[in-house]
Amino acid sequence: MNIVLLGPPGAGKGTQAKVLSKEYKIPHISTGDMLREAVKAGTEVGKLAKSYMDKGELVPDKVVVDITGERISQSDAKSGFLLDGFPRTDEQANELDLALDKTGKKIDIVLCFKTSPEVSIARLSGRRVCPKCGSNFHIENMPPKEKDLCDYCNGRLIQRNDDKYETVKRRLVVYENQTKSLIDYYQKKHILKEVSGNLEVNALFCEIKKLFVRERLA
Ligand code: ADP
Ligand code: ZN
Repeated sequence: MNIVLLGPPGAGKGTQAKVLSKEYKIPHISTGDMLREAVKAGTEVGKLAKSYMDKGELVPDKVVVDITGERISQSDAKSGFLLDGFPRTDEQANELDLALDKTGKKIDIVLCFKTSPEVSIARLSGRRVCPKCGSNFHIENMPPKEKDLCDYCNGRLIQRNDDKYETVKRRLVVYENQTKSLIDYYQKKHILKEVSGNLEVNALFCEIKKLFVRERLA
């Protein structure tokens, strides 16, 4: 099953992607995570990406199309994958379709997360991440057992540069301007399904599993 998660920053795509990936045994492919890894590793791609990410702007299409295309072609993605944060522009969606066409694959379903801007902003500005193991927390919704320390590896939690209030607001505007039109794009292909991003993690997970059964995908 090939899935795309679409929706504004802070919709909870990454969190759902992790549980879905485990349940259906398909790799979770997050362009945001791949780019952050490149930044950490200090590669050329990472350096370029950082300058856009810190401002809340999109990284150029060519860069993300290349890394995603490469990732999808790896053997663990043969029987399915879950795309989180890609595509984010019309150009990326076209390139994805072309790449899939070539290998006789297609997107089975696009889950569109409906989340209010208030919820997005609250989730992102309260998010804290562990730089050592990558775990996510939230100062109110999912606080660590000990303040500012990771439950799993005891690393000191930090706020992502792009989770600062001003940058969060910019990311939401960028979503409206550059990504939202993809809803139309996938609606026309009749593969778009709306889910409520305002629900808490488990409730939404259950809703999505039921949806897959109804759509005869699982
Ligand atoms: P969120 O979905 O919460 O905005 P991500 O971790 O998915 O967070 O993305 C963080 C940043 O990485 C984005 O603001 C953008 O700069 C960059 N990025 C991720 N995916 C893409 C993409 N498909 N196209 C362009 N830039 C991207
Ligand atoms: Zn940790």
